[in-house]
Amino acid sequence: MPRPLHATIHLDSMQHNLARARACAPQANVWAVVKANAYGHGLERGMRGFAQADGLALIETENALRLRELGWVKPILLLEGIFDTSDIPLLAEHNVNSTVHCIEQVKMLEYTQLYRPIDVHLKMNTGMNRLGFRPDEFAAAYQRLRAIPGIRNITLMTHFANADELEHPRLSIGEQVRRFRLGADGLPGERSLSNSGGVLHTAELVQELQSDWVRPGIMLYGGTPGGRSAKDYGLLPTMTLKSEIIGIQHIEPGDSVGYGSRFQADRTMTVGVVACGYADGYPRHAEHGTPVLVDGIRTTLVGRVSMDMMAVDLSPIANARVGSKVTLWGDGLPIDEVAQAAGTIGYELMCAVAPRVRVAEAPLGCDPVL
Ligand SMILES: *Cc1c(COP(=O)(O)O)cnc(C)c1O
Repeated sequence: MPRPLHATIHLDSMQHNLARARACAPQANVWAVVKANAYGHGLERGMRGFAQADGLALIETENALRLRELGWVKPILLLEGIFDTSDIPLLAEHNVNSTVHCIEQVKMLEYTQLYRPIDVHLKMNTGMNRLGFRPDEFAAAYQRLRAIPGIRNITLMTHFANADELEHPRLSIGEQVRRFRLGADGLPGERSLSNSGGVLHTAELVQELQSDWVRPGIMLYGGTPGGRSAKDYGLLPTMTLKSEIIGIQHIEPGDSVGYGSRFQADRTMTVGVVACGYADGYPRHAEHGTPVLVDGIRTTLVGRVSMDMMAVDLSPIANARVGSKVTLWGDGLPIDEVAQAAGTIGYELMCAVAPRVRVAEAPLGCDPVL
Protein backbone atom coordinates (compact mmCIF):
# COMPACT_ATOMS: atom_id res chain seq x y z
CA MET A 1 0.00 0.00 0.00
CA PRO A 2 1.37 3.46 -0.79
CA ARG A 3 2.27 5.81 2.02
CA PRO A 4 -0.92 7.71 2.92
CA LEU A 5 0.49 11.20 2.26
CA HIS A 6 -0.91 12.79 -0.90
CA ALA A 7 -1.78 16.16 -2.40
CA THR A 8 -5.16 16.59 -4.07
CA ILE A 9 -5.47 19.27 -6.73
CA HIS A 10 -8.90 20.86 -7.18
CA LEU A 11 -9.07 21.89 -10.83
CA ASP A 12 -12.55 23.37 -10.52
CA SER A 13 -11.33 25.63 -7.70
CA MET A 14 -8.58 26.85 -10.02
CA GLN A 15 -11.24 27.71 -12.56
CA HIS A 16 -13.35 29.39 -9.85
CA ASN A 17 -10.42 31.50 -8.62
CA LEU A 18 -9.60 32.58 -12.17
CA ALA A 19 -13.20 33.76 -12.51
CA ARG A 20 -12.75 35.72 -9.25
CA ALA A 21 -9.66 37.42 -10.71
CA ARG A 22 -11.61 38.33 -13.83
CA ALA A 23 -14.44 39.73 -11.74
CA CYS A 24 -11.95 41.94 -9.83
CA ALA A 25 -10.40 43.33 -13.02
CA PRO A 26 -13.14 42.95 -15.65
CA GLN A 27 -11.49 45.36 -18.10
CA ALA A 28 -8.23 43.44 -18.25
CA ASN A 29 -6.88 40.35 -19.96
CA VAL A 30 -5.46 37.80 -17.55
CA TRP A 31 -2.06 36.16 -17.62
CA ALA A 32 -2.43 33.18 -15.26
CA VAL A 33 0.99 32.78 -13.66
CA VAL A 34 2.10 29.12 -13.77
CA LYS A 35 5.75 29.53 -12.81
CA ALA A 36 7.33 27.13 -10.29
CA ASN A 37 5.43 24.13 -11.66
CA ALA A 38 2.17 26.09 -11.35
CA TYR A 39 2.97 26.93 -7.73
CA GLY A 40 3.53 23.23 -7.03
CA HIS A 41 0.31 22.08 -8.72
CA GLY A 42 1.96 20.74 -11.90
CA LEU A 43 2.37 22.69 -15.13
CA GLU A 44 -0.07 20.55 -17.07
CA ARG A 45 -2.73 20.90 -14.36
CA GLY A 46 -2.12 24.65 -14.37
CA MET A 47 -2.80 24.68 -18.08
CA ARG A 48 -6.05 22.75 -17.67
CA GLY A 49 -7.22 24.61 -14.55
CA PHE A 50 -6.62 27.96 -16.24
CA ALA A 51 -7.82 26.99 -19.69
CA GLN A 52 -9.98 30.13 -19.69
CA ALA A 53 -7.05 32.51 -19.10
CA ASP A 54 -5.92 34.81 -21.93
CA GLY A 55 -2.34 33.65 -21.53
CA LEU A 56 0.04 31.73 -19.27
CA ALA A 57 3.14 33.29 -17.72
CA LEU A 58 6.20 31.44 -16.46
CA ILE A 59 9.98 31.57 -16.32
CA GLU A 60 11.75 28.88 -18.37
CA THR A 61 11.78 28.63 -22.19
CA GLU A 62 11.71 24.82 -21.93
CA ASN A 63 8.47 25.01 -19.98
CA ALA A 64 7.03 27.46 -22.51
CA LEU A 65 7.78 24.87 -25.19
CA ARG A 66 6.24 22.17 -23.04
CA LEU A 67 3.02 24.18 -22.88
CA ARG A 68 3.01 24.32 -26.68
CA GLU A 69 3.57 20.54 -26.85
CA LEU A 70 0.68 20.07 -24.43
CA GLY A 71 -1.52 22.00 -26.83
CA TRP A 72 -1.66 25.52 -25.33
CA VAL A 73 -2.29 27.83 -28.31
CA LYS A 74 -2.94 31.17 -26.55
CA PRO A 75 -0.13 33.59 -25.58
CA ILE A 76 2.77 32.63 -23.31
CA LEU A 77 4.93 35.15 -21.45
CA LEU A 78 8.45 34.62 -20.09
CA LEU A 79 8.58 36.70 -16.89
CA GLU A 80 12.39 36.97 -16.77
CA GLY A 81 12.80 37.03 -20.54
CA ILE A 82 15.63 35.34 -22.39
CA PHE A 83 18.86 34.18 -20.78
CA ASP A 84 20.84 33.75 -23.98
CA THR A 85 20.62 34.55 -27.72
CA SER A 86 19.94 30.85 -28.37
CA ASP A 87 16.49 31.41 -26.81
CA ILE A 88 15.49 33.96 -29.46
CA PRO A 89 14.66 31.61 -32.37
CA LEU A 90 12.46 29.64 -29.97
CA LEU A 91 10.46 32.77 -29.17
CA ALA A 92 9.80 33.34 -32.84
CA GLU A 93 9.11 29.73 -33.72
CA HIS A 94 6.69 29.06 -30.86
CA ASN A 95 5.21 32.52 -30.58
CA VAL A 96 6.38 33.17 -27.02
CA ASN A 97 6.26 36.69 -25.59
CA SER A 98 9.40 37.69 -23.70
CA THR A 99 9.97 40.22 -20.97
CA VAL A 100 12.84 42.61 -21.74
CA HIS A 101 14.21 44.05 -18.51
CA CYS A 102 17.84 45.04 -19.15
CA ILE A 103 20.04 46.51 -21.86
CA GLU A 104 21.83 43.18 -22.34
CA GLN A 105 18.55 41.63 -23.49
CA VAL A 106 17.95 44.56 -25.87
CA LYS A 107 21.42 44.00 -27.36
CA MET A 108 20.80 40.27 -27.80
CA LEU A 109 17.66 41.11 -29.76
CA GLU A 110 19.52 43.75 -31.83
CA TYR A 111 22.23 41.26 -32.83
CA THR A 112 19.85 38.48 -33.84
CA GLN A 113 18.11 38.33 -37.16
CA LEU A 114 14.42 37.67 -36.49
CA TYR A 115 12.74 35.62 -39.21
CA ARG A 116 9.32 35.92 -37.61
CA PRO A 117 7.91 38.75 -35.53
CA ILE A 118 7.91 38.52 -31.75
CA ASP A 119 6.04 40.37 -29.01
CA VAL A 120 7.80 41.68 -25.93
CA HIS A 121 6.95 43.07 -22.50
CA LEU A 122 9.27 45.96 -21.66
CA LYS A 123 9.70 46.09 -17.91
CA MET A 124 10.09 49.21 -15.81
CA ASN A 125 11.66 49.21 -12.34
CA THR A 126 9.34 51.49 -10.39
CA GLY A 127 10.90 50.89 -7.00
CA MET A 128 10.97 47.15 -6.42
CA ASN A 129 14.61 47.25 -7.57
CA ARG A 130 14.61 43.73 -8.87
CA LEU A 131 14.26 43.74 -12.67
CA GLY A 132 13.60 46.54 -15.13
CA PHE A 133 14.70 49.87 -16.58
CA ARG A 134 14.49 52.97 -14.43
CA PRO A 135 11.68 55.34 -15.41
CA ASP A 136 14.20 57.83 -16.86
CA GLU A 137 15.83 55.10 -19.03
CA PHE A 138 12.58 53.57 -20.16
CA ALA A 139 11.72 55.64 -23.23
CA ALA A 140 15.24 55.14 -24.65
CA ALA A 141 14.97 51.37 -24.18
CA TYR A 142 11.57 51.49 -25.83
CA GLN A 143 12.95 53.37 -28.86
CA ARG A 144 15.82 50.88 -29.27
CA LEU A 145 13.37 47.98 -29.22
CA ARG A 146 11.04 49.79 -31.60
CA ALA A 147 13.90 50.14 -34.08
CA ILE A 148 14.47 46.37 -34.23
CA PRO A 149 12.78 44.88 -37.30
CA GLY A 150 10.71 41.90 -36.23
CA ILE A 151 9.61 43.26 -32.88
CA ARG A 152 5.85 43.54 -33.14
CA ASN A 153 3.92 44.56 -30.02
CA ILE A 154 5.64 46.16 -27.05
CA THR A 155 3.62 45.90 -23.84
CA LEU A 156 4.72 48.13 -20.97
CA MET A 157 4.94 46.39 -17.61
CA THR A 158 5.94 46.89 -14.01
CA HIS A 159 5.70 44.87 -10.81
CA PHE A 160 4.49 45.95 -7.36
CA ALA A 161 6.61 45.44 -4.26
CA ASN A 162 3.76 45.90 -1.77
CA ALA A 163 0.54 45.10 -3.58
CA ASP A 164 -0.80 43.31 -0.51
CA GLU A 165 -1.13 46.67 1.25
CA LEU A 166 -2.91 49.75 0.04
CA GLU A 167 -0.57 52.24 1.67
CA HIS A 168 2.88 50.87 2.40
CA PRO A 169 4.89 53.57 4.18
CA ARG A 170 8.04 53.00 2.07
CA LEU A 171 6.56 52.32 -1.36
CA SER A 172 2.84 52.35 -2.09
CA ILE A 173 1.09 50.99 -5.16
CA GLY A 174 0.04 54.56 -5.91
CA GLU A 175 3.66 55.76 -5.91
CA GLN A 176 4.77 52.93 -8.20
CA VAL A 177 1.92 53.71 -10.59
CA ARG A 178 2.89 57.40 -10.55
CA ARG A 179 6.48 56.53 -11.52
CA PHE A 180 5.22 54.10 -14.18
CA ARG A 181 2.98 56.72 -15.76
CA LEU A 182 5.83 59.22 -15.82
CA GLY A 183 8.30 56.79 -17.41
CA ALA A 184 5.78 55.42 -19.92
CA ASP A 185 4.22 58.77 -20.78
CA GLY A 186 3.37 59.03 -24.46
CA LEU A 187 4.64 55.55 -25.34
CA PRO A 188 2.14 53.46 -27.24
CA GLY A 189 1.36 49.89 -26.20
CA GLU A 190 -0.75 47.95 -23.76
CA ARG A 191 -0.06 48.13 -20.02
CA SER A 192 0.53 45.15 -17.71
CA LEU A 193 0.52 45.98 -14.02
CA SER A 194 -1.00 43.91 -11.26
CA ASN A 195 -0.02 40.71 -9.49
CA SER A 196 -2.62 39.13 -7.14
CA GLY A 197 -2.34 41.92 -4.59
CA GLY A 198 -3.03 44.54 -7.22
CA VAL A 199 -5.93 42.54 -8.67
CA LEU A 200 -7.52 42.15 -5.24
CA HIS A 201 -7.17 45.90 -4.64
CA THR A 202 -8.48 46.92 -8.04
CA ALA A 203 -11.84 47.98 -6.62
CA GLU A 204 -10.14 50.45 -4.25
CA LEU A 205 -7.63 51.65 -6.83
CA VAL A 206 -9.71 51.72 -9.99
CA GLN A 207 -8.27 55.04 -11.13
CA GLU A 208 -4.65 54.05 -10.61
CA LEU A 209 -4.85 50.49 -11.84
CA GLN A 210 -6.08 50.93 -15.36
CA SER A 211 -4.29 48.03 -16.92
CA ASP A 212 -4.82 46.06 -20.10
CA TRP A 213 -3.29 42.93 -18.60
CA VAL A 214 -3.10 41.61 -15.04
CA ARG A 215 -0.80 38.83 -13.82
CA PRO A 216 -2.36 37.03 -10.85
CA GLY A 217 -0.54 34.05 -9.36
CA ILE A 218 -1.18 33.16 -5.74
CA MET A 219 -4.88 34.12 -5.72
CA LEU A 220 -5.53 31.59 -8.49
CA TYR A 221 -4.27 28.91 -6.12
CA GLY A 222 -6.52 30.02 -3.28
CA GLY A 223 -3.83 31.87 -1.36
CA THR A 224 -3.63 35.55 -0.52
CA PRO A 225 -0.62 37.81 -0.77
CA GLY A 226 -1.35 39.67 2.45
CA GLY A 227 -2.82 39.13 5.88
CA ARG A 228 -6.46 38.75 4.85
CA SER A 229 -8.02 35.34 4.42
CA ALA A 230 -8.87 33.72 1.10
CA LYS A 231 -12.45 33.46 2.32
CA ASP A 232 -12.74 37.26 2.46
CA TYR A 233 -12.04 37.31 -1.26
CA GLY A 234 -14.19 34.29 -2.16
CA LEU A 235 -11.19 32.20 -3.18
CA LEU A 236 -11.17 28.42 -2.85
CA PRO A 237 -8.21 26.20 -1.94
CA THR A 238 -6.73 24.42 -4.94
CA MET A 239 -4.38 22.04 -3.13
CA THR A 240 -5.21 19.83 -0.16
CA LEU A 241 -2.33 18.02 1.53
CA LYS A 242 -3.56 14.99 3.45
CA SER A 243 -2.09 12.07 5.33
CA GLU A 244 -2.97 9.68 8.14
CA ILE A 245 -2.04 8.90 11.70
CA ILE A 246 0.45 6.01 11.54
CA GLY A 247 1.28 5.69 15.25
CA ILE A 248 -0.06 6.74 18.65
CA GLN A 249 1.77 7.40 21.92
CA HIS A 250 0.22 7.90 25.37
CA ILE A 251 2.45 10.17 27.38
CA GLU A 252 2.66 11.36 30.98
CA PRO A 253 3.43 14.80 32.44
CA GLY A 254 7.15 15.46 32.01
CA ASP A 255 7.49 13.27 28.90
CA SER A 256 8.81 14.99 25.82
CA VAL A 257 8.18 14.48 22.09
CA GLY A 258 10.50 14.37 19.10
CA TYR A 259 14.04 15.59 18.29
CA GLY A 260 15.46 18.02 20.76
CA SER A 261 12.61 17.15 23.15
CA ARG A 262 11.22 20.56 22.36
CA PHE A 263 7.72 19.73 23.54
CA GLN A 264 7.15 18.57 27.10
CA ALA A 265 3.74 17.38 28.28
CA ASP A 266 2.26 19.03 31.38
CA ARG A 267 -0.56 16.48 31.52
CA THR A 268 -1.41 13.00 30.42
CA MET A 269 -2.02 13.16 26.71
CA THR A 270 -2.28 11.19 23.48
CA VAL A 271 0.01 12.09 20.62
CA GLY A 272 -0.51 10.98 17.01
CA VAL A 273 2.33 10.48 14.57
CA VAL A 274 1.52 11.73 11.04
CA ALA A 275 3.22 10.49 7.87
CA CYS A 276 4.48 13.86 6.65
CA GLY A 277 7.77 15.61 7.35
CA TYR A 278 10.12 18.24 6.05
CA ALA A 279 11.33 15.94 3.25
CA ASP A 280 7.76 16.15 1.94
CA GLY A 281 7.86 19.93 1.95
CA TYR A 282 6.20 20.58 5.30
CA PRO A 283 8.19 23.41 6.93
CA ARG A 284 10.59 22.17 9.62
CA HIS A 285 10.40 25.51 11.39
CA ALA A 286 6.63 25.11 11.99
CA GLU A 287 6.15 25.74 15.68
CA HIS A 288 4.17 23.93 18.32
CA GLY A 289 0.64 25.24 17.85
CA THR A 290 0.59 25.16 14.03
CA PRO A 291 -2.96 24.04 13.09
CA VAL A 292 -3.76 20.57 11.70
CA LEU A 293 -7.07 18.75 11.19
CA VAL A 294 -7.51 15.16 12.42
CA ASP A 295 -10.77 13.57 11.29
CA GLY A 296 -11.88 17.11 10.46
CA ILE A 297 -11.24 18.37 14.01
CA ARG A 298 -8.75 21.13 14.58
CA THR A 299 -5.71 20.40 16.70
CA THR A 300 -2.03 21.37 16.67
CA LEU A 301 1.47 20.20 15.97
CA VAL A 302 3.61 19.20 18.95
CA GLY A 303 7.40 19.12 18.96
CA ARG A 304 9.74 19.39 16.03
CA VAL A 305 8.84 18.30 12.51
CA SER A 306 11.19 15.49 11.49
CA MET A 307 12.15 14.30 8.01
CA ASP A 308 9.26 11.92 7.41
CA MET A 309 6.92 12.48 10.34
CA MET A 310 5.44 14.97 12.74
CA ALA A 311 3.46 14.65 15.95
CA VAL A 312 0.04 16.12 16.72
CA ASP A 313 -2.00 16.50 19.88
CA LEU A 314 -4.91 14.04 19.77
CA SER A 315 -6.61 15.34 22.96
CA PRO A 316 -9.51 17.04 21.09
CA ILE A 317 -10.22 13.98 18.92
CA ALA A 318 -12.28 11.39 20.75
CA ASN A 319 -11.92 8.40 18.45
CA ALA A 320 -8.51 9.00 16.96
CA ARG A 321 -6.79 5.82 15.82
CA VAL A 322 -4.09 4.65 13.46
CA GLY A 323 -5.59 5.45 10.07
CA SER A 324 -7.38 8.66 11.16
CA LYS A 325 -7.32 11.20 8.33
CA VAL A 326 -5.08 14.24 8.73
CA THR A 327 -5.33 17.47 6.72
CA LEU A 328 -2.11 19.49 6.69
CA TRP A 329 -3.63 22.29 4.60
CA GLY A 330 -6.29 22.96 1.97
CA ASP A 331 -9.88 21.77 2.22
CA GLY A 332 -11.10 23.08 5.61
CA LEU A 333 -7.73 24.52 6.67
CA PRO A 334 -6.46 27.59 4.78
CA ILE A 335 -2.85 27.26 3.66
CA ASP A 336 -2.24 30.89 4.68
CA GLU A 337 -3.10 30.06 8.28
CA VAL A 338 -0.61 27.18 8.36
CA ALA A 339 2.01 29.35 6.66
CA GLN A 340 1.54 32.16 9.14
CA ALA A 341 1.94 29.81 12.10
CA ALA A 342 5.10 28.46 10.46
CA GLY A 343 6.58 31.92 9.84
CA THR A 344 6.30 31.75 6.06
CA ILE A 345 3.84 32.37 3.23
CA GLY A 346 1.44 30.08 1.38
CA TYR A 347 3.51 30.50 -1.80
CA GLU A 348 6.49 28.75 -0.23
CA LEU A 349 4.44 25.85 1.13
CA MET A 350 2.81 25.16 -2.25
CA CYS A 351 6.05 25.37 -4.19
CA ALA A 352 7.93 23.18 -1.71
CA VAL A 353 5.72 20.07 -1.93
CA ALA A 354 8.32 17.40 -2.68
CA PRO A 355 8.38 15.12 -5.72
CA ARG A 356 7.88 12.08 -3.47
CA VAL A 357 4.38 13.28 -2.50
CA ARG A 358 1.76 11.56 -4.63
CA VAL A 359 -0.57 13.93 -6.45
CA ALA A 360 -4.15 13.19 -7.43
CA GLU A 361 -6.93 15.29 -8.87
CA ALA A 362 -10.21 15.78 -7.04
CA PRO A 363 -13.26 14.69 -9.03
CA LEU A 364 -14.77 17.70 -10.77
CA GLY A 365 -17.84 19.20 -9.17
CA CYS A 366 -16.92 18.75 -5.50
CA ASP A 367 -15.62 22.09 -4.34
CA PRO A 368 -13.55 22.12 -1.16
CA VAL A 369 -14.82 24.25 1.68
CA LEU A 370 -13.27 27.49 2.78
C1 LIG B 1 5.24 35.86 -9.71
C2 LIG B 1 4.85 37.03 -10.49
C3 LIG B 1 3.51 37.43 -10.54
C4 LIG B 1 2.43 36.76 -9.72
O1 LIG B 1 2.54 37.17 -8.37
P1 LIG B 1 1.47 36.75 -7.26
O2 LIG B 1 1.85 37.52 -6.06
O3 LIG B 1 1.63 35.27 -7.07
O4 LIG B 1 0.14 37.09 -7.79
C5 LIG B 1 3.19 38.48 -11.37
N1 LIG B 1 4.13 39.14 -12.09
C6 LIG B 1 5.43 38.80 -12.04
C7 LIG B 1 6.43 39.58 -12.82
C8 LIG B 1 5.84 37.75 -11.24
O5 LIG B 1 7.13 37.42 -11.19
